[in-house]
Amino acid sequence: MHESIQSCVFKNGWLGESEKKLFGRQRDLHDPVEMRFGITLERFSATLQHPLPGAQWGGIITRMALKAFENNTIEAVVTLHRTRENQFFSQPVLAETAQEIYDSRGNKPVLSPVLRSLETAYRKGIKKLLVIGAACHLHVLRDFQERFTYLQDMEIFTIGIPCVDNIDRQRWPWVLKRMSRSPLSAMHMEFMQDFRIHIRHTNGMVEKVPFFSLPQELSDPSIFPVACMSCFDYLNSLADVTVGYLAAELRPDEKRQWVLVRTQKGKTLIDAIRNELTCYPEEGKWDCKKFVMNTAEATIASMKVQSRTYSPDRKIPLWLGHILSGVLSLAGPKGIGFAHYSTDFHLIRHYYYVRERFPEQLERLVPRHVRSILEEYDLPL
Ligand SMILES: Cc1cc2nc3c(=O)[nH]c(=O)nc-3n(C[C@H](O)[C@H](O)[C@H](O)COP(=O)(O)OP(=O)(O)OC[C@H]3O[C@@H](n4cnc5c(N)ncnc54)[C@H](O)[C@@H]3O)c2cc1C
Repeated sequence: MHESIQSCVFKNGWLGESEKKLFGRQRDLHDPVEMRFGITLERFSATLQHPLPGAQWGGIITRMALKAFENNTIEAVVTLHRTRENQFFSQPVLAETAQEIYDSRGNKPVLSPVLRSLETAYRKGIKKLLVIGAACHLHVLRDFQERFTYLQDMEIFTIGIPCVDNIDRQRWPWVLKRMSRSPLSAMHMEFMQDFRIHIRHTNGMVEKVPFFSLPQELSDPSIFPVACMSCFDYLNSLADVTVGYLAAELRPDEKRQWVLVRTQKGKTLIDAIRNELTCYPEEGKWDCKKFVMNTAEATIASMKVQSRTYSPDRKIPLWLGHILSGVLSLAGPKGIGFAHYSTDFHLIRHYYYVRERFPEQLERLVPRHVRSILEEYDLPL
């Protein structure tokens, strides 16, 4: 824990030097796509031809981990299992068998001490390791790799998830109760590209809640951990390969995912399962400026520190929220345009969150491309 704090982004800042050390350069401020998605060798959408049941989406991450284990690229995986008591809660694990790797699939939408098992891996003498984590984990890991020679003796592969709006586990029951009409039977939850949260229940039913119809209490920034609201690496840019869904087309009959291959190690991991994937080029129109500008002012205003009480009521009734989500799914940004919009929305939200609460941290925390993006929208720095 002590070492994690030493290597934390709050000490080192997001990206910056770490990005330079990994790629030999920082992202190009003249390349609008790289500014948002980070440095990549290749990006595409893909479906796993045989999706893994119980995975968060199609299961590309777990399949890559399993394959790397099967072909001896790695000996173990630093990742998470669910706890027995609550399937949304995580416990760190060093997965050393195919079954243990398979059991790590699925999201645990709570802050999680993933890197705890790194020490277990070292003590067991593991030399080839895979680490799966969110951006905050990978930032700390990259710094550990610089600081500790014993990690330099290990060959470490990394897979990143895009991550945003993670929750403190004490808060989770309160949040879930406000999202779902049946929190006790909820077993899977995801914020999707159709502007709705999809919550799957034990009976297989999928409850869809439009973002616009969530209770107003859930728009209180203080319900999210300070660390997550100060995150400037949604797309996990220090991972060897990032797998999300943001720029992938949402199709009812397919679980398309979005793959961002960043390094040769990432290419090794994805190449090993390429024959199990159906791949599609990225699609959608890049431009989403109007769409971002429509919400920017309200987003910035909502980041102000204010002593207001948030109502438990929905701002917009569910039926109207569904109409709005439907219209936006048709008329709003899609594919890379949606990923562009979502990345910019979160950068704007987090910049003003930090500026309001921790102005003295702005210089250290915020990577330089964020300022360039804010300037594109003529937003005050
Ligand atoms: C809080 C949260 C928010 C997310 N937001 C987005 C988003 O906005 N856009 C987007 O494209 N993708 C997002 N993702 C990632 C996305 O939900 C999927 O995990 C990703 O698309 C991989 O799907 P998969 O089926 O291949 O994963 P799986 O094969 O099911 O593997 C998922 C892997 O992620 C690990 N994992 C789960 N929860 C955590 C956690 N809390 N911390 C660290 N590791 C974890 C699992 O242990 C497992 O190894 C988010 C994930 C989380 C946890």
